[in-house]
Amino acid sequence: MAEWSIEEAEKLYGVSRWGGGYFTIGENGNVHVTPVPADPSIRIDFKAVLDEIRDEGVQFPVVVRFHDVLRSQVANLNTIFRDTIAEAEYNGQYHGVYPVKVNQMREVVEEIVDAGEPFNYGLEAGSKAELITVLALNTNEESLTVLNGYKDEEFMKLALLGRKLGRRIVVVIEKYSELTLLVKTAKELGIEPIIGMRSKMTVKGRGKWESSGGERAKFGLTIAEILKAARYLREEGMEHCFKLLHFHIGSQLTDIRSVKEAMTEGARIYAELHKLGFPLDYVDVGGGLGIDYDGSASTNESSRNYNMQEYVADVVYGMKEVCDQEGVPHPNLVSESGRAITAHHSCVITEIVGEIRSDMAEVDTTPVDGEHVFVRNIRELCETFDTQTNMQEVFNDASQWKEQAMDAFKLRVLSLDELGKIETLYWRIMIRLRDYYSTADYVPEEIQGLDYSLSSQYLANFSVFQSAADTWAIDQLLPVVPVTRMNEKPDVNCSLVDITCDSDGKIDQFTVGREITDILPMHKLKKDEPYYVGLFLTGAYQDVMGDMHNLFGRLNEVHIYSYDDDPQDFYIEEVVKGSSVQDVLEIMQYNPRAMASDVKRMIDRQISSGNLNPREAVKWTDFYENCLSGYTYMKTRS
Ligand SMILES: *Cc1c(COP(=O)(O)O)cnc(C)c1O
Repeated sequence: MAEWSIEEAEKLYGVSRWGGGYFTIGENGNVHVTPVPADPSIRIDFKAVLDEIRDEGVQFPVVVRFHDVLRSQVANLNTIFRDTIAEAEYNGQYHGVYPVKVNQMREVVEEIVDAGEPFNYGLEAGSKAELITVLALNTNEESLTVLNGYKDEEFMKLALLGRKLGRRIVVVIEKYSELTLLVKTAKELGIEPIIGMRSKMTVKGRGKWESSGGERAKFGLTIAEILKAARYLREEGMEHCFKLLHFHIGSQLTDIRSVKEAMTEGARIYAELHKLGFPLDYVDVGGGLGIDYDGSASTNESSRNYNMQEYVADVVYGMKEVCDQEGVPHPNLVSESGRAITAHHSCVITEIVGEIRSDMAEVDTTPVDGEHVFVRNIRELCETFDTQTNMQEVFNDASQWKEQAMDAFKLRVLSLDELGKIETLYWRIMIRLRDYYSTADYVPEEIQGLDYSLSSQYLANFSVFQSAADTWAIDQLLPVVPVTRMNEKPDVNCSLVDITCDSDGKIDQFTVGREITDILPMHKLKKDEPYYVGLFLTGAYQDVMGDMHNLFGRLNEVHIYSYDDDPQDFYIEEVVKGSSVQDVLEIMQYNPRAMASDVKRMIDRQISSGNLNPREAVKWTDFYENCLSGYTYMKTRS
């Protein structure tokens, strides 16, 4: 067996490249978590977390949340803004807000609000339901609440209620007609609003979300509309309410150049408005701060060519430069980073429950009298070729014979037994070809596909649609690695398939080394030892966007807090139960209680007709009811 080390594992799985300082591979080959990078003495072995989850009887798959990671990210962003502002001698302050749409879970939002308290970190809402949420949660009068999204009169009234409660609520106008509605509602109620305007930017972010910018952007006012709106406010005697300029050019900005360009454009608009007699207090630069999902630190779609520090510097210095040139005051800066705050704090842990491979079963291929010439041919090929043979020809012949064999089978010339033999021999040849080419300098194109066709599919107990929606919807790449055994040389090439009855329910995009590939090296499954795979960086969007395809519901959640005095450095603060079968059925308008009594009635009928004895019948009734209240995922061990 070749050499293997933690360094090799790190090269292959890139854990510290995408881990953001929170995840590494420990000496023992398990994922280790450093939830507070500033305090590396706290180090959690993920295996210990999994053991405790199992001991507590929590079923997999689970979402594991590291609350300290969330807190660390909030502190990071705010501290970096503060430090950069001081260093740049920038005269405004930073008033960040967390956009709740990125992860609206109560525990997540509460933790962010709590960790953000010393920084007066606020919240952003983009719908009525989100506004109702943030009204109750954000009680810090110094922090901002920013309202984006399309708004009706009720929405405006809720915002004005917030003003009455003494809160700094900014209504951002997304389209012109919202302004007249807001002015009318505010005047009727006699409450003064704080108004922001979202500018439609000409600069586009690059990557998957680039349509958030440009002329066809769904949100925002054109320059002409902003001018018209500002003058309208002046006519209404409300120009002093216009306090914020907003822009957002898209999520996951991959290239720092778009941040720089947006800053210049936004700062120029701010400065000109100032000169026209509209002295705004705030410029809100939106979200977009990216995450390095593939660890390449590049402009790949799932990466970004900058870090948080560089992003903040471009925002602060970009604004300062334009303001100083124009001779206008530095505005307070607002940003709405959601992905960057939440992505790292949670992950999905799933257990591999099986392996699917085309070459798994073999039949006896010893020659028999009167067998078909196809079987004889492919056997001869299999037995005679060696390194001196033209391998390309072997591949072509074997593939052709297998195809012809299928045709012959359909024409009733070959028997099922003979077809089985041909299949077995074919895969034996392919395995040898793959092994031969694994050390070759040049690999023909057809042969390159062999790695994939000979790879295993590891069946993972989860649903892509519930837990990793963006990998399916927009081909987003998420880091996927085994949580343990990384000190062993991986010996199986795999892709992952989930347990939904949908061929799209799979993950076949991975970062391996420096490349993005369709197979991930993993480890052979052992009989008595569960093999856990983690999907990391699922805290932004994935956590909350999933659906119930095939009626697989929400996952059990385990909330981890670090605790230095504990021998393992952590404790489970809370287990939030995922959906039961009953829960998901109720959402789909079923009545589980009625269903249970219907089934009981059917069982009772079988007793009357003598097909079931009463004792057995009671057991079946209980069994059905237990399943109804049980977890929607596969039960792997009791
Ligand atoms: C979605 C959204 C955000 C969050 O963007 P991230 O890239 O996740 O930081 C911020 N602002 C607005 C207006 C949004 O729609």
